Amino acid sequence: MWCIQRNVPREERSRHDLDSITERLPLTGKPFSIPILLLALACTFLGCDRDKDAAQAQGPPRTDTSTPGSKASTPPLTFPPDSGSPPGFDGNRSIEYVKEIVAFGPRPIGSANHKKVEDYITSHLKGDAVEDDRFTADTPEGKFPVHNIIAKFSGTKDGIIVIASHYDTNYPLRNTPYVGANDGGSSSALLLELANQMRGQKRDGYSVWLVWDDAEESVKPDTEVNFLSDSLYGIQHLADKWQADGTLKKIKAFLLADMIGDADLDIDRDQNSTPWLEDTVHEAATRLGYQSHFFARNNQVSDDHLPFVKRGVPSADLIDFTYGYNNVFWHTPQDTVDKLSPKSLDIVGCVILETVRLLDTK
Ligand SMILES: [Zn+2]
Repeated sequence: MWCIQRNVPREERSRHDLDSITERLPLTGKPFSIPILLLALACTFLGCDRDKDAAQAQGPPRTDTSTPGSKASTPPLTFPPDSGSPPGFDGNRSIEYVKEIVAFGPRPIGSANHKKVEDYITSHLKGDAVEDDRFTADTPEGKFPVHNIIAKFSGTKDGIIVIASHYDTNYPLRNTPYVGANDGGSSSALLLELANQMRGQKRDGYSVWLVWDDAEESVKPDTEVNFLSDSLYGIQHLADKWQADGTLKKIKAFLLADMIGDADLDIDRDQNSTPWLEDTVHEAATRLGYQSHFFARNNQVSDDHLPFVKRGVPSADLIDFTYGYNNVFWHTPQDTVDKLSPKSLDIVGCVILETVRLLDTK
C-alpha cells in the first residue's frame, strides 16, 4: 500500500483526488447508470442505524455524492436471507504462506527475490487457468519487468468479480530488511488461500479472477516525485488492457485486499471506494459476526483500486491503515509476521467469500 490522505476536508479531498487522478488516468466516459429514483429512496433512510435487517430493507446508508466512488452507487441492497454454511477459509494455512513469502526477503521489482516470489505464486496455481500479463514499466529509476498473475475460476453467470493484491515490496527500501509481511505479503497469501477455496468448485455465480498485481509501490520515495505518476504500474496496465479488449465491461466488482493481516484488525471505510459495494462487504461481515472489524473509521485511500474506480467499475479497497500505534510499522523493517494473526486473515478471507456469495445473488 502506498498512499493515504487523512483529515482533509471532504470537498478538498474530492477535488484533489479527482484532479490528480484524472491527470494520469483519462476518464473514459463510461456512464454511471444510477437510477435517480433509487438514490432518492436511499436518501429517505439517512440517519438510521445500520443493522442487518435495516440494511436488507433500506439499501446503502451512504448517499453522499461528493466522493468519487459514490457516483457508481447503484441499487438499494437487498439480499436473500442467510443460507448455507459459512464460507470456509484457512487462516492458519494463509499465515504459513505469508511466512514463506517473507522468507525470500525484500521483493522489489527487478530483484532476484521478486522472481522467486513470482515462481512461488505460480507454483501454487498448477492446474488452474492462469494468465501472465507481462510488460516493461518505465519508471523514474529506469525500466523494469512487471508481471501480473491472474488465476481465473469460471462461473455460470455472465460477469467477473476481480479480487486483487499486490505482491511487490517497496523499492526505496530494497536495501533494508524490509519484507512487507503485512504490506503485500498478507493479501498475497490470502489470495493463495482463496484459490484453494475456489479450486475444483463449480461456481454457481460470476467468474472469479484472482489477481496478484505487480509494481504497486513507488520506486521513488513519495517526497521525490508525484506519487500518482510513480506507482500502481501493474494494475494500471491491466485496467488499460481490459478496457481495450472489452473485459472491463464484464467486471461486476473489483475487490482489493491490502494490509489485512494486522492482529488488531480494523478495516477502514474508504471514501474512494464504491459505497454500495462497501455496504455489501459490511453486510457480509455482519452475517458472519465480524462487523466490529469493519468500517469503524473513515479514510480516503489511494491504492490499486483507483484505475478501476476511475473507469466506473464498482470497487472496494479492504485495508487496515492503522498498523501499529500511529502506523509505525508501515514501510519499515518492523513489518514482520509476528505483528499478524491467522484470525485476521481468516476474517477477511471469509468476508470476501461471503461478499462474493452476496454478489452472486445480484
Ligand atoms: Zn506499501
